[in-house]
Amino acid sequence: MILVIKNDSQKRQLDNLVSWIKSLGLNVYMSRGENSTILGIIGDTSLVDVDLIRSLDIVETVKRISEPYKKANRKFHPDDTIIESSSARFGGKNFAVIAGPCSVESEEQIVSIARDVKKAGATALRGGAFKPRTSPYAFQGLRADGLKLLLVAKEVTGLPIVTEIMSVTHLDLFRDVDIIQVGARNMQNFELLKELGKLDVPILLKRGLANTIEEWIMSAEYIMSEGNARVILCERGIRTFEHYTRNTLDLSAIPLIKELTHLPVIVDPSHASGLARLVAPLSLASTGVGADGLIIEVHNNPEKALCDGPQCIRPQQFSDIMDRIRVILPLVNKEMCF
Ligand code: PEP
Ligand code: MN
Repeated sequence: MILVIKNDSQKRQLDNLVSWIKSLGLNVYMSRGENSTILGIIGDTSLVDVDLIRSLDIVETVKRISEPYKKANRKFHPDDTIIESSSARFGGKNFAVIAGPCSVESEEQIVSIARDVKKAGATALRGGAFKPRTSPYAFQGLRADGLKLLLVAKEVTGLPIVTEIMSVTHLDLFRDVDIIQVGARNMQNFELLKELGKLDVPILLKRGLANTIEEWIMSAEYIMSEGNARVILCERGIRTFEHYTRNTLDLSAIPLIKELTHLPVIVDPSHASGLARLVAPLSLASTGVGADGLIIEVHNNPEKALCDGPQCIRPQQFSDIMDRIRVILPLVNKEMCF
């Protein structure tokens, strides 16, 4: 980290700053020029609060040289991390597709969709049991009963299940869940992330509605710093000024994440656009930019869906998308995993 010190600063202020930085266990190298003084800070600067330093009277500018995340950083782990859950594999050459309804509505619904998506080549089944809804009057999910129905669908099809946790108080109920999803709204629920970090279960960490890539990776770091290295990132669109789509899919995040971290990253084209007709083109584009997989909302009766019907595609449309993805995969050096 490099600090440029203001010209008019007092020696006493500078000495205080240097001894404070050293008290954090870091080394300081000082270069005094005619017009400015520069401090180079060496060591684990992830401990340093950049905003605090920037706010000091004597500091002109601060620049981080190394990223504030260590465990997720590709610099310290050059190989891709591959995360396995039953037959599903995320990362490396694998391309894994998670599919299913926004929310679990009944046994008939979830089992029927699970069978259909499995037939089309899905790797895992999604389905919300606890739903984060904007309105408290909207369908909140079948909650614990929904988790039981997901396990029935898993029993019938053998597909591992992916479902969202919203509260640490529900952890016990998620014992048999194969991949625990942290939704966009909870990406910075740090207490939840820390508890998930103590488990040995893959965590699907969605990007927050308005979070930067660095904030998102720092949330992965929260989970990893507690010991759970099995984090799968999921780009699901961010809030912009655009209203024709529900969110704006940040496709550039995919190759960037691959440079910055060794973690797998998948794309959710359903929440990114909010429109069923955009799911196919966004799925193909995501595959083309090197995503490690997709999570797609599929419903057997989208008009009657209790949640997110307008963005749910039908099983036949899902099957068509899978066929088209298989054509692209060799171009990006990946193989469909099922
Ligand atoms: C979901 O996957 O159904 C969901 C609520 O997603 P997000 O957290 O990305 O909005
Ligand atoms: Mn949804």
